[in-house]
Amino acid sequence: MKDFTLDIYRELLETLQKQGYRLISYADYIANSQKPTANSRFVILRHDVDAKPFNSLRTAQIEHALGAKATYYFRVGKESNNPEVIRAIAQLGHEIGYHYEDMSLCNGDIDRAWSHFQTWLAYFRQYYAVETICMHGAPTSQYDSKDLWRKYDYKTLGIIGEPYMDTDFSNVFYLTDTGRCWDGYKVSVRDKIPQYQEEWSRKGLTWHTTPQLIRAIQNGQLPHHVMITTHPQRWTNNPKAWYLELVTQTIKNIIKRLIAKN
Ligand SMILES: [Zn+2]
Repeated sequence: MKDFTLDIYRELLETLQKQGYRLISYADYIANSQKPTANSRFVILRHDVDAKPFNSLRTAQIEHALGAKATYYFRVGKESNNPEVIRAIAQLGHEIGYHYEDMSLCNGDIDRAWSHFQTWLAYFRQYYAVETICMHGAPTSQYDSKDLWRKYDYKTLGIIGEPYMDTDFSNVFYLTDTGRCWDGYKVSVRDKIPQYQEEWSRKGLTWHTTPQLIRAIQNGQLPHHVMITTHPQRWTNNPKAWYLELVTQTIKNIIKRLIAKN
């Protein structure tokens, strides 16, 4: 089977559910993190919508059909920020968050970045009551957008969590499809958890392809608490441009129908 298709994404989620994992949003994790969950299995489904927002609608529909909840983080740029898609994904019951990169967009000017952050948080809150935010890694930028929190505090704006800042990675294993594989932490600039990665690698918790990951889940090798980050622009059943175009058009029509119903 080809990797990074919607079919294999669905199979990954179904395998997790069969093994007893609840599929939850990041806000759900934060809200429940104070409760004892030692015996319960969960996977936080995090999606960074870096580009091709309509691809995110497809994964959102698959998750919705399986009764899963996920978090979709949107960037300010047109390549990500599509109000129709944001509304449609929120309507499917998923969480919407802000994929911020204010420090890189403001060339490291921290005061300007804070003001920019507040403007865009207010923008996304037109569509959804945003409670969590997540850094966009911006590998080509010299600025780390998390540096904004050296001076300012997002909690003053009613934000309850940021995955890189508020996740207990001593208790939550991290997987990301950065690099279009599951062991891309080796090449990733900012999307990784360096303080725990060595320990995870030592324990053999590294897989390259999705079929390998699925087998590991079936064999009970996956830790009980996990965050999985995907970039839905990578996941498609339709490698050829013409077919992608056809699908995009179909999805656009689905959204138009959804909006027309409101
Ligand atoms: Zn990103």
